[in-house]
Amino acid sequence: MDVEKVRAETPGCAEVVHLNNAGAALQPAAVLDAVVGHLTLEASIGGYEAYEQNAAAIGRFYDAVAALLGAAPDEIAYVENATRAWDMAFYSVPFAAGDRILTTASEYSSNAIAYRQVARARDVRVDVVPDDAHGQISLEALAAELGRGGVRLVSLNHVPTQNGLVNPAAEVGRLCREAGALFLLDACQSVGQLPVDVGEIGCDMLSATGRKFLRGPRGTGFLYVRRDVLRTLEPPFLDLQAADWQAPDAYEMRDDARRFETWERFVAGQIGLGVAVDYATALGLRAIEERVTSLAARLRADLAERPGVTVLDRGERMSGIVTFTVAGRDPGEIKLALRERDVNVSVTTPRQHGYDLDAAPAAVRASVHYYNTEAELERLVTAL
Ligand SMILES: *Cc1c(COP(=O)(O)O)cnc(C)c1O
Repeated sequence: MDVEKVRAETPGCAEVVHLNNAGAALQPAAVLDAVVGHLTLEASIGGYEAYEQNAAAIGRFYDAVAALLGAAPDEIAYVENATRAWDMAFYSVPFAAGDRILTTASEYSSNAIAYRQVARARDVRVDVVPDDAHGQISLEALAAELGRGGVRLVSLNHVPTQNGLVNPAAEVGRLCREAGALFLLDACQSVGQLPVDVGEIGCDMLSATGRKFLRGPRGTGFLYVRRDVLRTLEPPFLDLQAADWQAPDAYEMRDDARRFETWERFVAGQIGLGVAVDYATALGLRAIEERVTSLAARLRADLAERPGVTVLDRGERMSGIVTFTVAGRDPGEIKLALRERDVNVSVTTPRQHGYDLDAAPAAVRASVHYYNTEAELERLVTAL
């Protein structure tokens, strides 16, 4: 990876040490230019007219995301964020009374809230599969739960928001296929930092956001739905783009993933996200993962040597997310003190994730990307 080049193509690198890539990464200039260019066009010739003029760039989004994931373009929907993309998939599943949902102890809170809502409304049961000794989903426990039967859906986060592990998604996919359960993967923190191939993983549905490791604009995201599963899912909301109105009282849903979309959208964001995805693909996801994981490993090692610093990350395979606490210091206070030194980190709190609020304390989260440098990591550690 030509780190000098990617830094030169990232205006923010000249301003800050950005270690909040799991929150929102710095956009490459090409993404910013694409977004601003379309907004400028809308302002000068009109929004509908700009749409027509930039139709090819808008359509490119589907091909770019499909290529990134090893999917087909008609299996991709553009949705305004990962939460709504995930919701569109989850609330489409035709749960029947007595069905079971399996998820993980480290689940993202928004997803956990959705399980409770559906559990109450449709008499569905939610079972939390315990973690193994490394902190990731226990495959043994998952296999046992699947063996008990009645599982309609397995819902997994690929890379949790609050610690540095990578869940074994492909192994989960294999177990789901054997058991005939649907597999929904929340890939919000993994897409853009490591290779994610829906064929290899074997997920039926996958949601992600634009602004995190993909380095796209805020307010963008997408949903992948496997073609043969798509036909069994009726979205909770349908509009005149998702379905065809056949007056006086019928409609027909689209037969592709765009049945999960709405007609009105942040068009400049869709173009920008397509550019961001192409940028990542051109760099190569293997090269990106290699650099991200080696920077993160180095940061964990440097932090662990500091007196009073506890690195919390576990997992057999690790991501670019590094979490730690400092004895006697509040994580929020550390974040603010670092901000004064132009170092960006974030704070993770138990309310954002997890079924066990006592399992992990509030912590500082430093999430690296490939454009970060060893010198920047040193600045964080020195500032601490
Ligand atoms: C950030 C995040 C989400 C939500 O993404 P939005 O784009 O903010 O809706 C969902 N799941 C995980 C694991 C996340 O880290």
